Amino acid sequence: MSTLDDLQRYLDNPLPADVAERSLLSGSMGESPSKYSRSPAMWNAAFREIGLDAVHMPFDVRPENLAGFVDAARAYPGFMGSNVTVPHKLAIMPLLDEIDPIAREIGAVNTFMQTADGRLVGFNTDADGLIASMLRTLPGESEPFLPTLSGKRVLLLGAGGAGRASAFALAKQVSDGSLLLTNRSLERAEELAKQAAVATGAKVTATAQELALDVVWSMDVIVNASTVGQSGMRRLGNGEATSLEAFSSLAPAAPAVVPEGDGGASFWREWFAASFKAIAENNARSAAAIAMCKPDAAFVDAVYSPDETVLLRQARLSGRKTLNGKGMLVMQAAFSFVNRMTRRHLQAAGHDPDALYDRVVEVMAAGF
Ligand code: NAP
Repeated sequence: MSTLDDLQRYLDNPLPADVAERSLLSGSMGESPSKYSRSPAMWNAAFREIGLDAVHMPFDVRPENLAGFVDAARAYPGFMGSNVTVPHKLAIMPLLDEIDPIAREIGAVNTFMQTADGRLVGFNTDADGLIASMLRTLPGESEPFLPTLSGKRVLLLGAGGAGRASAFALAKQVSDGSLLLTNRSLERAEELAKQAAVATGAKVTATAQELALDVVWSMDVIVNASTVGQSGMRRLGNGEATSLEAFSSLAPAAPAVVPEGDGGASFWREWFAASFKAIAENNARSAAAIAMCKPDAAFVDAVYSPDETVLLRQARLSGRKTLNGKGMLVMQAAFSFVNRMTRRHLQAAGHDPDALYDRVVEVMAAGF
């Protein structure tokens, strides 16, 4: 059995002492979720709503502490499981006892849960979250973003963790439509296209970013699952930093890399002076492609910070429908709450987890 002190040994953020007073513990594990993650607010709002004596904490875990933390968490009384985010989505896999077939296919785990007999099982709920956010009615909306993906021509940008989950999920939905993948590193998109085509039988192909721009006009749905457009400074770990916020994911993005300094205004001045030509070219190429799109083309971004990426802003200003990544985040969390991490604990407390789904979605969306 481990204690809160045993967990704390592997964390960079402090866990408040009253965490030990809760019967159940879950969390979100990454390099620094305590600084940005919306998950604790969403999950804790759901625990309060349902009346479960549980808490969800950010776990800031450095790569060298990952194995130690997983061991300590496994032995912590009432540990339910954890979300997993950058940079641990792959590294966590050999530390778990079992990987769900969908997560194995995607090649990344974004959630693991502890079973009643103490086994740790890894899942990937990003795929369910993306599809649910597009096809189910989100809180505050009167109808789903799209009635169906069947028969649609879909362009997916990005072949990292979220891109891989999205590719398999979208390929399963398009039926006699098609899925075209593109990514900065073309080989990753080509490899993924082959895997998704074999796994689903759908028409999935890959093309270079430059060529994708030429066929955007023929697409029904454009989905960004790359980090391009995400807010803030991106530290590269060598004293240098960059930013992708000013770029549209639809066109090649080549931001300058400059010394991170104190991360304040002087970084941004130097970075912007070195990047503005690349920003202008990227934005112009993206806008030109969007202007040629079908009038009813729909744009979806997995990125949820900022609320509106450059891609979505251009699409909205051109009169196209847009959806940001908040719905995906909420839907994957609600799916994990009801079907995975919390399910057996809800049942033990006398709840029917399936009957709670809509309420959990509402509360998590409000807590976002
Ligand atoms: P990741 O595994 O690190 O992948 C990053 C992706 O972005 C890769 O496809 C990478 O291309 C691409 N990329 C990075 N810099 C680029 C540049 N300058 N130009 C073009 N492409 C570039 O990250 P991830 O986990 O997939 O996450 C991607 C985004 O999705 C993040 O913003 C994340 O917050 C968001 N996300 C949202 C949800 C949600 O629930 N809403 C869930 C998961 C992820 P290369 O392959 O060439 O490196």
